Amino acid sequence: MDKKFVYLFSEGNASMKNLLGGKGANLAEMTSLGIPVPQGFTVTTEACNKYYEDGKVIAQEVINQIESKMKELENITGKEFGNVEKPLLVSVRSGARASMPGMMDTILNLGLNDDTVEAMAKLTGNPRFAYDSYRRFIQMFADVVMGVEKRLFEDLMDKMKEEKGVHLDTDLDADDLKKLVGQFMELYKKEKGEDFPTDPKMQLIESVTAVFRSWDNPRANVYRRLNDIPSSWGTAVNVQEMVFGNKGETSGTGVAFSRNPATGENKVYGEYLMNAQGEDVVAGIRTPQPIDHLEEQMPEIYKQFVDIVNTLEKHYKDMQDMEFTIEDGKLYFLQTRNGKRTAQAALKIAVDLVEEGMNTKEEAILKVDPKQLDTLLHPAFDQEGLDNATPIAKGLPASPGAACGKIAFTAEEAKDRAAAGEKVVLVRLETSPEDIEGMVAAEGILTVRGGMTSHAAVVARGMGTCCVAGCGELKVDEVNKTVTVNGKTYTSNDYLSLDGSTGNVYGEALNTVAPEISGHFETLMNWADEIRALKVRANADSPRDAKQAVEFGAEGIGLCRTEHMFFAEDRIAAVREMIVSKSEEQRRKALDKILPMQREDFIGLYETMEERPVTIRFLDPPLHEFLPQIDEEIKALAKEMGLTFEELKATIESLHEFNPMMGHRGCRLAVSYPEIAEMQTRAVIEAAIQVKNNKGFNIVPEIMIPLVGEIKELKYVKDIVVATAKKVIEENGVELDYQVGTMIEIPRAALLADEIAKEAEFFSFGTNDLTQMTFGFSRDDAGKFLQDYYEKKIYEQDPFAKLDQSGVGQLVQMAAEKGKATRANIKLGICGEHGGDPSSVEFCHNIGLNYVSCSPFRVPLARLAAAQAQVKNKR
Ligand code: PEP
Ligand code: MG
Repeated sequence: MDKKFVYLFSEGNASMKNLLGGKGANLAEMTSLGIPVPQGFTVTTEACNKYYEDGKVIAQEVINQIESKMKELENITGKEFGNVEKPLLVSVRSGARASMPGMMDTILNLGLNDDTVEAMAKLTGNPRFAYDSYRRFIQMFADVVMGVEKRLFEDLMDKMKEEKGVHLDTDLDADDLKKLVGQFMELYKKEKGEDFPTDPKMQLIESVTAVFRSWDNPRANVYRRLNDIPSSWGTAVNVQEMVFGNKGETSGTGVAFSRNPATGENKVYGEYLMNAQGEDVVAGIRTPQPIDHLEEQMPEIYKQFVDIVNTLEKHYKDMQDMEFTIEDGKLYFLQTRNGKRTAQAALKIAVDLVEEGMNTKEEAILKVDPKQLDTLLHPAFDQEGLDNATPIAKGLPASPGAACGKIAFTAEEAKDRAAAGEKVVLVRLETSPEDIEGMVAAEGILTVRGGMTSHAAVVARGMGTCCVAGCGELKVDEVNKTVTVNGKTYTSNDYLSLDGSTGNVYGEALNTVAPEISGHFETLMNWADEIRALKVRANADSPRDAKQAVEFGAEGIGLCRTEHMFFAEDRIAAVREMIVSKSEEQRRKALDKILPMQREDFIGLYETMEERPVTIRFLDPPLHEFLPQIDEEIKALAKEMGLTFEELKATIESLHEFNPMMGHRGCRLAVSYPEIAEMQTRAVIEAAIQVKNNKGFNIVPEIMIPLVGEIKELKYVKDIVVATAKKVIEENGVELDYQVGTMIEIPRAALLADEIAKEAEFFSFGTNDLTQMTFGFSRDDAGKFLQDYYEKKIYEQDPFAKLDQSGVGQLVQMAAEKGKATRANIKLGICGEHGGDPSSVEFCHNIGLNYVSCSPFRVPLARLAAAQAQVKNKR
């Protein structure tokens, strides 16, 4: 049998998301639940993939199946596509497996032409409605399918309103709209050099193709990369009988959430507009009414609406985001999906759903996106500063958080200035999907128009960026780049501060403070800790970072980069002295200066971490980062060391490396200069003894040797560590356990991990270097060309951010297995950046690592991701 590419809503269900997309699967599910859904069919994601496989053409067999399902839809509705008595009109909408708000394109009122529009006018006795629908269709089809700029149509509309002296679209009558349709047709012909297509079948196939095409548009690609959605998923297309919210005063349309998506409050939340079509609500051109108002306006409909909302939430066991339309006093649901929500709302909803008995803790854990926690871990405004500041304006609190930056007036400008290191706030009349990159780059987003469901609000919430929307008091001049409010004008050089939780806008830079974990956040984190098997440590090099990490729930330090302790101004001279030393004697003199500082550092860490494990990684400096560069610095150091300027300059030049990342770093330094490893061992052991004596903490230091590729080099350095530790322990007359392990960050070490495990009591995967060396591109330079790889779809993700599971991951898994084969109780962890990436954390869980280690601010994210991994794949 031929492959089935098209499904009626009555043929699918919620479990078919991969094939029908989220929207299609849920329309099918709602149909089977008996909820009033305008009927239709879904063209599958496989048809989209086939479109791309076939070189961006829609296959004849797909067209045939669409036409045949159209016939069935005609039977179901009792209307006929293109018929001049009872015309069937449809909407065409995209719907991928994961929702991609604002990314894909929609066409409404398809099936209209000069004949069917008359039929609609006659049937409804409402020519204004018919022509309003028609002008919308022409504009949308021309824009989305044929690439004629929407603005050109809007200009004609504005011109007509101006001529008539009216402000609202709804003030235009049937004749005006008819005239407008004529102007639209002329415009189309002028732009495209041909007449507007009047054959509904052709309109339909062109529209389906346009949706497929939009899957690959630049903004969809950006969104996918940000949200980790593979391009191989494809999008489905939903073709659905139109119902009309713009038929008059007993018709309307709206969007609703079963709970408040900003706060999580358990109360239906939504907005609607009477006598309007879907895009009017979202576009933010007219300001919608709050949903409560519907209770007064149409009590019966409101009751039915609330019943359905409750049914859907119970059915999906999650907060729902729904679109509905009222046509002549009859209610229809056009879509439902699990609603996007702020991080605060996500936590409250997850905890409430458990308390209400709707979810288990395991189910609730899966409802919070770990990446979203980020927003809660970023600073809020300092209360005192806030109390003393007066807002200059107030908009809608569309996405919480605090943002402060200089004003950028276009997305492009925001992107460029942020790339140059500036903090900016993006200020726009309203945002559109083209603005996505600027929105990502900005600290916060402020719009003049639009409600809580406007593009800016929805997208900002999804990204966790602070957003104040619909701030109508602002007069924004996008051309001259000024914002004026209450007679005061702000330019690109001025600061704004936005409070996304209150909607307040401040005309000054406000201070921010660090967040804390409490309330629902704490409850959910405690559940995550009960569930997860994988431990979470932090990468921290100072007591301050270590303290932050413990506050965020870190169970130890997985990586203390000792070279980071050397950057401080009062130390750098001694470190430079050590690096440029020509003799062991000179080097030992410099190391003697460093020893007490290192010891103090470690004491600070141990005291902060109490008895939690602390892994101290021996020196691994790319040398060039430490050497003095300018003559002044060289002169000062030469004087300090009793050398001439020329002598020292020559030494520095001799240390120059062509590829410092693969140079004299890591354990190679200790092989050349064992006295460095001696000094560090002494500092580690003496600190542990001192903290044991003073505080009674039983510290078991974990000494980690970096950049090992050969067992003999590990053994060489380890022997120095063991001999020095023995000496220090004896000198102090105490007992102290410690461990020596290594990083696995060179492919050769992964290949020979069974050998290396003979000398290593633990492995920590340094996936930053392992990625660099497996791919063979520099972690410092790859950013410059990876963009080309994303555009050409060679790589979809930055392998330095998300572990390349099939390549680098294979090395990690293999090394873990080899390590265990030699030493069954070997401790296994990861300390590359990937330890804070949710999908990489899941991978680490699945291959049986003991812990992940990530930056302090990512610890909560890793705790949650680890719990999710356990729920999905128990071990
Ligand atoms: C690594 O290479 O993954 C690692 C953690 O070490 P560094 O980033 O310090 O090279
Ligand atoms: Mg490394």
